[in-house]
Amino acid sequence: MRTLNWMVTATLLLSLSAVAQNAADNQPTSQPATVSTSTQAPTPDPTQTSAQPQATQPTAAPAPNAQPVAPQAGPQPTTMDQVVDRFVMREKGLVKMLQSRTPVIETYLQNLTLDPALGPIPQNDKYFLGRMDLSTTIDRKDYIHDDQSMEKHLLGGFSKLFKVQYQPLGFSWMIFADRNDFDRQHYDFRYVRREFLGDVRCLVFDVTPKPKSGQGRFLGRVWVEDQDYNIVRLNGTYAPRPRNAYFFHMDSWRLNLIPGYWVPAFIYSEEGDFSAGAKNALAFKAQTRIWGYDLKKDGASDELTNIRVDSVQDDSPTAQDASPLAAERQWQQQAEDNVVERLTRAGLLAPEGELDKILQTVVNNIEITNNVDLPRPVRTRVLLTSPLETFSVGNTIVISRGLVDVLPDESSLAMALSHELAHIVLGHNLGSKYAFNDRMLFSDEATYENLGFKHIPEEEAAADKKAIDMLKNSPYAQKLDGAGLFLKALNTRAGALNALLTAHLGNNMADGATVTRMTGLMTSAPQIDWNKLDQIAALPLGGRVKLNAWDDKVELVKSQPVAITSARDKMPFEVTPFFPRLTRTGTTDGTNTNGNAATTAPSAATTADNTKPAN
Ligand SMILES: [Zn+2]
Repeated sequence: MRTLNWMVTATLLLSLSAVAQNAADNQPTSQPATVSTSTQAPTPDPTQTSAQPQATQPTAAPAPNAQPVAPQAGPQPTTMDQVVDRFVMREKGLVKMLQSRTPVIETYLQNLTLDPALGPIPQNDKYFLGRMDLSTTIDRKDYIHDDQSMEKHLLGGFSKLFKVQYQPLGFSWMIFADRNDFDRQHYDFRYVRREFLGDVRCLVFDVTPKPKSGQGRFLGRVWVEDQDYNIVRLNGTYAPRPRNAYFFHMDSWRLNLIPGYWVPAFIYSEEGDFSAGAKNALAFKAQTRIWGYDLKKDGASDELTNIRVDSVQDDSPTAQDASPLAAERQWQQQAEDNVVERLTRAGLLAPEGELDKILQTVVNNIEITNNVDLPRPVRTRVLLTSPLETFSVGNTIVISRGLVDVLPDESSLAMALSHELAHIVLGHNLGSKYAFNDRMLFSDEATYENLGFKHIPEEEAAADKKAIDMLKNSPYAQKLDGAGLFLKALNTRAGALNALLTAHLGNNMADGATVTRMTGLMTSAPQIDWNKLDQIAALPLGGRVKLNAWDDKVELVKSQPVAITSARDKMPFEVTPFFPRLTRTGTTDGTNTNGNAATTAPSAATTADNTKPAN
C-alpha cells in the first residue's frame, strides 16, 4: 500500500523541518523513526487522500461491530519473565482487537510562555480532530483541514529556515508502545516494583530498546495490571532521536471499559523547561483524547440504512392532517432528529445521558421563571469535543464538553445555555434544510463541511439581549457575577486561545482577542484578580466531564476539590496532565460504568451484585 510510506513519515512526532532539504531516511517500518525533513508538504501521494471526504470507501473490510470477546486467562505466571511474556501477548491481542475500530482522536495543544506571576501560560494553541484507522498501521483522517499551504508556500523560497510543524498523528502514537515489534527481540524489560493506580494493583516495568533494534523505539515505563496482565499506562518517549525531528514525551492511559481489554483513552504530552537559563526549542502541553471505539465504521454502503426516521413519530393527539404551522414544526423536528442522529453517529455527540439531565434542569429553571412555553420541550446534548461552543438545532441545545469543563459554576452554565435558549424562544431556527435526508449523506470526516449552525450577527445580538433578560428573571439573577467573571477571564486569554475559541458548528464566543458573547454580563462583574485565591473565574480543561471512550457516554467527574494555594494553581482554560482513577470494569466502585455514577447514595442492591470478582 503506497499510503503506508507517507504515513510512516507522518509518524514522527514533530518535525523541525528544514526548508530546501529533501526527505532523508525513509524506512519501511511502521516505527515513528522516519523523519521528513522536507518542508514541502509530504509529496501528495494520489492514493493518500485521507483528507478528502471522498476517501470513505472502506479501507479495510468493515468488521461487524460485535463486542469483543474477553480473552481466556491462562495459568497465572509465576516468574517476572512469564509476566513479560504475558503482557507482550496481551498487547498483541489489543492491537488485533482494535484493528476493526476507527476511534475519534482529538488533540488540543497549548504552546507555553512564562508569565512571572502565573507561571507557564498559553501563548497560542492548536487543535486537531480526526478518526483513526487501526487496521494495518496507525492511520488517521481529519475532520478539520488546517490550511497550511500558504505558510508552506511562503517559506518555500527560503533556505535554512526552520519551523516547528506538529504532526497530529504523532500525538496518538503512544496508544501502543510499539505496534509491531513489542517483544523480547527488540526490547529489554526490567521489573521495578508494584504500585497501585487507582483501585488497580500494577506491576511496573522499565522498557528499553535493545541496541541496534532500529529507530524510534519506545523508551520508558509500563504499568501492567496483575490480573490479566494488560498494560494500563505507558510513560516515556521514543529513541533514538532522529535528525531534524523530535519525539514528544507522552503519558498514555488506558481504561478497562469492556471485559478483558484496556483501551487507550488519554495521552498527555508536555515539553519545555522554564528553569533559569533554559533554552526552549519548544514548550507546550497537549491533551489527546480517544473515544468512539464502538462507532460503526464509516462505510458508504450503510449510509442509507442508517438514516433513522422512525424517531419522528406522529404524536399529534388526533389523526388529522397537520396544519401549516404543525407541518412546519414537524419539519423542524425531522431536521433536528436527523442532525442529532448524524452527529452521534459521527462520534461528535454523546448519547443522551446523566449530564443532559443536569443541563436540562438549568434550562428548565430559566424557562419556568420566564414563563417560556414552547410547543416541544427543549432537549440538551453534549458535543464531545474541546473547543468552547454551543449551538442549537430545532429545540435541541448542544454544548461542548470543553465548555462544560471550564465553566466555574451553575450560573455560568446558565449563561452558556441561555444564549441558545434565546435563539429557540426567538424562533431563530436554523437547519430545517437538514430535514432532507440526502443532506445527511456524507462521511464522518466531512461533518464540519456539511453541517453548520452559525447565526447572522443580528440574531446573535438579539439572542444575547434576550438571554440576559431571561437570566435576570431566573434563579441565577443574583449569581451572574460568576458568569461575568468567566467571560472576563475568557477575554484575558482569548488572544492566546484561538483554536479553543474556534467553533466548528456554532458561532464563536470571541472575535479574535475579544469576547463577543453576552458581553453585557462583564460590565457588572468584579475585576479579575489572579492573586485572590477564592476567585475562581474559569477551570482547567478536563476537570468536569468524564467521557467513556468505548460508548461515548459522558458524566460528571467525581473528584474531591483540591485547595488552591497560589495563583498558579488556577490554570484557567489550561491543559493539565491526566490522572484517571483506574478501576476494573464490573467492580463495586462503578466509576467507569455509566448511568448511576451521578448518584451519591450507595445502594445495597448494586453492592451485592458486584461482590463477585470479574474474571
Ligand atoms: Zn448564537
